[in-house]
Amino acid sequence: MSQNTKSDSFSFEGARRAENLLQTGHPVFDKIVKIRYGSSILMLDETFSGAKNFLSVLFGSYAKDRADAPIEVRMRGKAESENVVVIQDSSISEVSIALSALREKHRGRILIHHELPDLLISNNAEVVLKTFQFWQPKTMDATTVEFYLLPKGTFEEVEKKILPFVEGVVEINVRDGEKRSELTFTPIGCCEHEHHLRSFPYKIEGERLLIEWAGGYTDEVREFSTETVDRLLNRYTGNLDSLKVVASSRPSLATLSVYDYWLLSQIVGKSLRYVSMIFPEQFEAILKKLSHWDIDGLVKVVESEGSLKEHLPKESEPKFQRRFVSLALALPTRVTSALIAAKTGKIHRVPADVLSASRMATVSLLNILLENTSAGEAQMRRIIELEKRFGEITARLTALKRISHLGEGPNPKVDMKHLEKIIATTFLIGYQIRPKIRKISGHGYEIVLTDCSLCKEITAKTPVCSQFSGTIEGICGVVFKLRTSCEEVDCRAMGEKVCRFVLNIMQQ
Ligand SMILES: [Zn+2]
Repeated sequence: MSQNTKSDSFSFEGARRAENLLQTGHPVFDKIVKIRYGSSILMLDETFSGAKNFLSVLFGSYAKDRADAPIEVRMRGKAESENVVVIQDSSISEVSIALSALREKHRGRILIHHELPDLLISNNAEVVLKTFQFWQPKTMDATTVEFYLLPKGTFEEVEKKILPFVEGVVEINVRDGEKRSELTFTPIGCCEHEHHLRSFPYKIEGERLLIEWAGGYTDEVREFSTETVDRLLNRYTGNLDSLKVVASSRPSLATLSVYDYWLLSQIVGKSLRYVSMIFPEQFEAILKKLSHWDIDGLVKVVESEGSLKEHLPKESEPKFQRRFVSLALALPTRVTSALIAAKTGKIHRVPADVLSASRMATVSLLNILLENTSAGEAQMRRIIELEKRFGEITARLTALKRISHLGEGPNPKVDMKHLEKIIATTFLIGYQIRPKIRKISGHGYEIVLTDCSLCKEITAKTPVCSQFSGTIEGICGVVFKLRTSCEEVDCRAMGEKVCRFVLNIMQQ
């Protein structure tokens, strides 16, 4: 690996202060996976020792500062180095006490937990989950990053129920490649949307962790010339109204992630002004992405001739109207909904039975097409993820239209304290569903639908109501200018009593 792609001045301490995001020093991994200090990650391993080896090379070879090596926690074996802690023959409460002490002693460090399977063998799963939940605020307080290794498929109940308490999951899988089977890692939640649920093949060669990235196995990332990127960005931002995006060559799915492909399909033919209104919270990131695609010849950003078919909200009489919206937000949700409905005229709702029938038809078809294999399941998850993006774009467009109906300009940012109310109102107006929303952490919310209209009468192995999680992300983007990630963790299609979503506000 060449030295210039790995920052020489890198240190965990510096990274911690700067962004509060974990920096492993591996350029590709750090581009894909985003983990905040003060959070837990589940490493779900389909192989015998894939996750263990992955973390060992990741933290062993790429960090600049050896003194910052992870602390490993085990319940068996010998402590062969000072960074390994063995908690032998202990009850779960003794383990809990030992971990609290460890977190205090090693504040801001990385912890790798090997003890979860042992705890699950000797304790009731509910007890382990309760204890795990109890650890989370302590992790946040100690600003540690904690990886929990768990074999995939052995403790299925726990795999599912642990999700609300972790920031994300990294799955290690084996997949049959063209010549031989290959290892892949899949980030779930702890990454940008474009990498969510994407499987990255990797291999370990000696001390190097090589990840398939931009057409080959590598531990380096290609840097675009900052001069060229800046020149393009200046051109874009100076001409938002006159420049539009066109696809110059047909992008292939092989070079773009499904998310990027979807994003591109939503902005091709549109002015940059329009893109800024639909994706306000990630406009800067999208412009940067556009500049890279521009350089690579995937898109062109050209002067638009004539007027574009875009219905952009206009700033009009904002003062009185804005007061109306603030007033509406201060009232109970049912009143707010009625007011907004009255103000914007007729609201077109999709009747619940139509929604559920269309959903059932889709899922039945997918079940037959994809059969009952693990490859089919992975495919199903990807399709459901894509459906989420359609929920998201629908929500963005609708929210923008509503805001403009109310006379609000598209730019004012609504205060985050209204988040629960706006989400409740969206579900009530759009779907006649009354969600229960509560804050579960500094940056997380839980949204429970007791009468979800999407999954009624459906049976599936994965949650199927992604259209709603997409809706929530879209609303948060347009209304609050917040980057969020929303996942359905329980679904009635899987036999649960309710559909439960976890919404995480991402780093701004
Ligand atoms: Zn559901």
